[in-house]
Amino acid sequence: NAITVLSGGTGGARFLQGLLHGIHSGLVSPTARVTIVANTADDVWMHGLKISPDLDAVMYTLGDGIDPEHGSGRRNETRSAQEELAAYGVEPTWFTLGDREIATHLVRTQMLEAGYPLSQITAALCKRWLSPAYGDTVRLVPMSDDRVETHVAIADPDAPSGRRVVHVQEYFVRLHAEVPAEAVAVIGLDESVPAPGVLAAIAEADLVILPPSNPIVSLGPILGVPGIVDALRATSAKVVGVSPVIGDRFVGSANAGASTGSMGEQLMTATGVEVSAAGVAKLYAARSAGGVLDGWLVDSTDAAVVAEVEALGMACRAVPLLMTDHAATATMATAAIELVG
Ligand code: GDP
Ligand code: CA
Repeated sequence: NAITVLSGGTGGARFLQGLLHGIHSGLVSPTARVTIVANTADDVWMHGLKISPDLDAVMYTLGDGIDPEHGSGRRNETRSAQEELAAYGVEPTWFTLGDREIATHLVRTQMLEAGYPLSQITAALCKRWLSPAYGDTVRLVPMSDDRVETHVAIADPDAPSGRRVVHVQEYFVRLHAEVPAEAVAVIGLDESVPAPGVLAAIAEADLVILPPSNPIVSLGPILGVPGIVDALRATSAKVVGVSPVIGDRFVGSANAGASTGSMGEQLMTATGVEVSAAGVAKLYAARSAGGVLDGWLVDSTDAAVVAEVEALGMACRAVPLLMTDHAATATMATAAIELVG
């Protein structure tokens, strides 16, 4: 009855919304408690503010404050502060900074400067977003309290080395992931430690879920925090994942305003991961073969890869994986749970 979900931003948040819908409607055990361990390697400092995009995406989505059109950011957002900063000529101007979001960033930054760790700050912010609907049955924890930031190496003919490194936010938001990525480096990851409660949430879980979040920039950093993979390999809980790739594309990669994850096929290629449901399964690998998965869900249209995934040493099933609404997503979450149940 304790479910732990490792999550990125938009994709993870939508999965969680469906899972919680399933719990609420009795599809999944109605007494289930959910701990969300979220990626913080997308975090960035902008205009003196500490911004945690994935923590915020999860918080706003589950707290019904998300902008449903974009799947990120606050509903009914305005951009006056951003316009004023641009009028002063203050860089960077490519980063979207909503007025409502700034309030969250201010609280987070002030608390950090007062000495609180990110995990405690997140708990404080969640009193507004999660407690009213879920009480203490849903908990959001950053993967680490340490500063960890993903950077992408891109070609730059003007640089002496021929390459340049940009923050992952700049790669997606300013460059739209259109320039080829040569490498991905998660700065600070090797020295980071899991936030309080993370290892316990994995060790004491009855089930661990890897939702369809981006494998390179969302779940990759979480799995890279020293100790987390060992905890996943040691837990008595089953570990099941849902493919973010359908066919040879990330879901939603053709959409305008796609999530950072859905633009990231370049990063898969840069890290040598084949862009397919089986390719992602190989990256995570079976627990029986030194990896973390007991089961892997692929989309109905990828039924042909089921045998290939099973041969890796994990259970696999093909079911519809499009999170079109809460009910469809809840059904998908149920299929994941049943696969390893
Ligand atoms: P980000 O932090 O905003 O990039 O969000 P995540 O990393 O949590 O999720 C991004 C991933 O969600 C992308 O790689 C998409 O392929 C995946 N995704 C988005 N919508 C769907 C969906 O309906 N079904 C599946 N299976 N994956 C989805
Ligand atoms: Ca993200």
